Amino acid sequence: MRLADSHAHLYDKKFNKDREEVIERAKNTHIEFIIVPSEDINSAHKALRLQDEYPDYFFAAVGFHPHDTEKFNYELLDMELKTKRYIAIGEIGLDYYYDKDIIEEQKYILQKQFELALKHDLPVILHIRDAFSDIFDIIDEFPELYGVFHCFTGGKEEAEEVLKRGFYISFSGIITYKNADKVREAADYTPLEKILVETDSPYLSPVPVRGKRNEPSFIIHVLNKLSEIKGIQTNKLAEITLSNTKSLFKINV
Ligand SMILES: [Zn+2]
Repeated sequence: MRLADSHAHLYDKKFNKDREEVIERAKNTHIEFIIVPSEDINSAHKALRLQDEYPDYFFAAVGFHPHDTEKFNYELLDMELKTKRYIAIGEIGLDYYYDKDIIEEQKYILQKQFELALKHDLPVILHIRDAFSDIFDIIDEFPELYGVFHCFTGGKEEAEEVLKRGFYISFSGIITYKNADKVREAADYTPLEKILVETDSPYLSPVPVRGKRNEPSFIIHVLNKLSEIKGIQTNKLAEITLSNTKSLFKINV
C-alpha cells in the first residue's frame, strides 16, 4: 500500500517535541509524501524549511487564510510564488463561521489569490466553512481555476457543484464522526478519480483517536472509513488517492 496525506500542518508547534518520530510513523504507514499548506508568509517559510529538510517528502503551499484578513499582501504573495518553490496556493478560502463582518474582505482577498493562481498556473487548496453559498459564484469568475476543496464539510449537493467545476474533494477525519452522515453521503457520491484524503494535522483527529493531536499516520482511519463507504479495498483506495494527489499537484516522486 502507498498513499499521500494531502493536507497536514507539520510545522505546527505541537510537533516541535517529536516531529522526527511523527515523520517516521508517517513513513511506516506508507505515506509517500505530505502536502504542507500554510496560512500566511511566516508559516509558508516554515513549510519551506520542512521541504528543504525532507526533499520529495514535504511539498509546501503558500496563501493567506481567511481567518486573518489583515495580513493579506498581494505583492508579497506574488514574490513568494515567483520563487517557484510552492506546489499550490493554499490554504485560502471563505470562513463565515466566526466573523461575519469580514465577508466582503474575505471574498476580495480570495479573488486576488485566484488571480495569482492563474498567473502562476498553480492549483488552489480551498478552506470553505459555512460559505458554500458564495464560493461557486466566485469560482465561476475564473473558469481556468483548478484545485481541491480541503477537509470537505458539505453534503451531496455541494459535492455536485464542486465536481461540476472539475475540482477535487478531500476527505478528512470528519467522515469518521458520528454526526457526519451528510459528508459520508458526499463521499459516497464523489467518483474515485476525484477523491483525495488528508489528516489536517494537528487538527480533526479521526475516530478512534479523536481528541488527541492528529498526525499523518492516523490517515489510515480516514482511509478505512472511506473504503467502507466506497465498497473498495483500502489499499486500492490508497493507490487511487495517491495518484489523484500527484496529478493535481503535478508531483513526480
Ligand atoms: Zn489546514
